[in-house]
Amino acid sequence: MVAKVHPSVPFAAPSSPVTGLASLSERCGACERCGLAAGRQQVVISRGEATARLMLIGEAPGAQEDGCGQPFVGRAGQLLDQLLAEAGLDSARDAYLCNVIKCRPPANRRPSGAEIAACRPWLEEQIAAVDPPLILLLGATALAGVLGVKQGLSRLRGQWMPWQGRWLMPLFHPSYLLRFPNEAEGSPRWLTRADLAAVHQRLNSMGLVHGRRPPPLAPVP
Ligand code: SF4
Repeated sequence: MVAKVHPSVPFAAPSSPVTGLASLSERCGACERCGLAAGRQQVVISRGEATARLMLIGEAPGAQEDGCGQPFVGRAGQLLDQLLAEAGLDSARDAYLCNVIKCRPPANRRPSGAEIAACRPWLEEQIAAVDPPLILLLGATALAGVLGVKQGLSRLRGQWMPWQGRWLMPLFHPSYLLRFPNEAEGSPRWLTRADLAAVHQRLNSMGLVHGRRPPPLAPVP
């Protein structure tokens, strides 16, 4: 599908995570920058904590996400929540979750490069507003959409990479983990548990577990 770009949608520099994301939700909710706008029920922007220090980026909304307007609420999302909880992380309290694409592709097909490019400014605005020191890229589409790396998820997963003053780690997407329920050592689920344990350890070493961005300083009178 060819992306239809509507450059008239305005962008605003956020003043704080909450106000910046509220402004983004309003503008992104009316976005028609690509053809996916025609088939969506809702624009799916995020769930979780706007001031969390950990951001998780997936691919695109599925049917359940399209229906309720929140990312990662179907079976894959439930598995992700469970794996985060096993690692000592609460998806509602400790993380901000979103996708590279905000509107559901037809039949859950993989989004095109043009659609990812059209939606990229919204993702960049989310990253700027939340300003997380750690970002997890869930699956090959997130890896390609953020870093432009089109293959090698299995080789790169679990590795921290410096990016724009932050640290990124690619992980398997929870939809992929649903297809491979094997829990044996070396399986995708086993590897993901090890990766999330490393995420918790890094947050801990940075003093950021359950951490929040501090409130802005009051202006000096
Ligand atoms: S997928 Fe992104 S760019 Fe396309 S219409 Fe939805 S919000 Fe806009």
